[in-house]
Amino acid sequence: MNFDLSEEQLAVQQAARDFAQTELLPGVIERDTHQKFPTEQIKKMGELGFMGMMVDPKYNGGGMDTVSYVLAMEEISKVDASASVCMSVNNSLVAWGLEKYGTEEQKKKYLTRVATAEAIGAFCLSEPEAGSDATSQRTTAEDKGDHYLLNGTKNWITNGNSAGVYLVIAQTDAEKKHKGINALIVEKGMPGFVIGKKEDKMGIRGSDTHSLMFTDVKVPKANRIGEDGFGFSFAMNTLNGGRIGIASQALGIAAGAYELALKYAKERKAFGKTLSQHQAIQFMLADMATKIDGARLLIHRAALLKDQKKDFVKAAAMAKLYASQIAQEVTTDAVQIHGGYGYVKEYHVERLMRDAKITQIYEGTSEIQRMVISRELLR
Ligand SMILES: Cc1cc2nc3c(=O)[nH]c(=O)nc-3n(C[C@H](O)[C@H](O)[C@H](O)COP(=O)(O)OP(=O)(O)OC[C@H]3O[C@@H](n4cnc5c(N)ncnc54)[C@H](O)[C@@H]3O)c2cc1C
Repeated sequence: MNFDLSEEQLAVQQAARDFAQTELLPGVIERDTHQKFPTEQIKKMGELGFMGMMVDPKYNGGGMDTVSYVLAMEEISKVDASASVCMSVNNSLVAWGLEKYGTEEQKKKYLTRVATAEAIGAFCLSEPEAGSDATSQRTTAEDKGDHYLLNGTKNWITNGNSAGVYLVIAQTDAEKKHKGINALIVEKGMPGFVIGKKEDKMGIRGSDTHSLMFTDVKVPKANRIGEDGFGFSFAMNTLNGGRIGIASQALGIAAGAYELALKYAKERKAFGKTLSQHQAIQFMLADMATKIDGARLLIHRAALLKDQKKDFVKAAAMAKLYASQIAQEVTTDAVQIHGGYGYVKEYHVERLMRDAKITQIYEGTSEIQRMVISRELLR
């Protein structure tokens, strides 16, 4: 085993850390307060190569490994989880899905733009009646020969308004159940495609989460990903990889809160000494650091397995389950260490605590992760 990062991985980590501090930190509280999408920041992240990190350079990507990606995700998430969810969806769901399963024509037309965030990607699976049970798709893609006619509503779509390329999962043949589902590439502006209301959220408030409505949207057959009926497998396979991204987001949120708490504990005095000189606080910091390291190891293992083209399904689900759980605990403790100051926006930890919760919900809730893990254990 080798726990050392390569020079290239260390450079990526440092570049992401610098970017987060100089470009994301200023304004992050204001974006959270006003639910403002980080448009300029995401554009710069695209220019710097953070939005298509693992994509082949021939499609404008960075050609990097998954370990580099999770290192960058952690650093960006320490500061701005709204920017990092955009980064995660773009990299691990949309770009990866297009590269792995798209045709050459689809890659040239869409992946090349998604990889630089010239067109941000969105992944559209959830519906008002289909969340954890993603097989209950009500959105339909009726086969009309050379095109599909798309009708229905998608809910909770990250990058809902800011995206340009949407991967939409829809039912073509209800009799075939999940084997009759297709994944279609839909472009913003296609007639009949309407972007619905923006959700007013507890956390990741800078991320734009929207419902989407499709009424008789004509989607060319050339925009179907994979064979007829491959859509459900496409969604599940893509989400398996996506979980590594969200696990890294949870890790970054936890690590960001921990770093702030550590610094604060060394500065703030109570009863004639710094907080860090009180054993209760020392033990709290020790538990926080141990949990963070445990999550990081699980995530790096999952990323490495993916890079080695080995089965990473269980490892990714374990990483997401654990990292999202400790993100709750660590961010809550970080607020506690800050006392009253932790409860106000200026000190950042209250935002990180609010941001942490979503990592237990999207891209498969914690209960769904346990289902995935136990299925693999009992196979
Ligand atoms: C901010 C945000 C962004 C999102 N972004 C996207 C996106 O970009 N694209 C997208 O497609 N979706 C997105 N989602 C949707 C998200 O993936 C779903 O909310 C999630 O999968 C849960 O589905 P649900 O909300 O319908 O809850 P439900 O499926 O109704 O679940 C409710 C509760 O029941 C539990 N539960 C359900 N079934 C079982 C079971 N069999 N056994 C035990 N417990 C169970 C769940 O774990 C959960 O605790 C986003 C959601 C949010 C809030």
